[in-house]
Amino acid sequence: MISLGKSRRMTKQRELILDAVIDRQDHPTAKDIFIQLSEHKIGLATVYRQLSSMVDEGLLLSFEHNGETRFDPLTSNHAHIICSQCNMIWDVNLPAGINRLEPSNGQIVIDGVDITWKGICQNCQ
Ligand SMILES: [Zn+2]
Ligand SMILES: [Zn+2]
Repeated sequence: MISLGKSRRMTKQRELILDAVIDRQDHPTAKDIFIQLSEHKIGLATVYRQLSSMVDEGLLLSFEHNGETRFDPLTSNHAHIICSQCNMIWDVNLPAGINRLEPSNGQIVIDGVDITWKGICQNCQ
């Protein structure tokens, strides 16, 4: 009975964490989610573990920016624009025809592309 209660709590926490990431468009870190859910008293390690398992399951994407792992609820192929001042990250669609630019060295089958443009956003100009 104890284990049932525990697994129920884990499921509830997992839902809260997933909803929190999906609600945000700013590609949060595990710490951002931890702070957002502070009233639910979910540990930072649990938040991180849950987010990592969601990435493994294909529910989220993750990428590194400035030495931090950012989580992304948009799992279709897309690019990012990052403000180099405030580190805000926006999603942008990849231009049509991007696949024609695929490089080939005869060694690797390309299965994805990771493109980031950088600039200064309106708030920081
Ligand atoms: Zn900015
Ligand atoms: Zn994104």
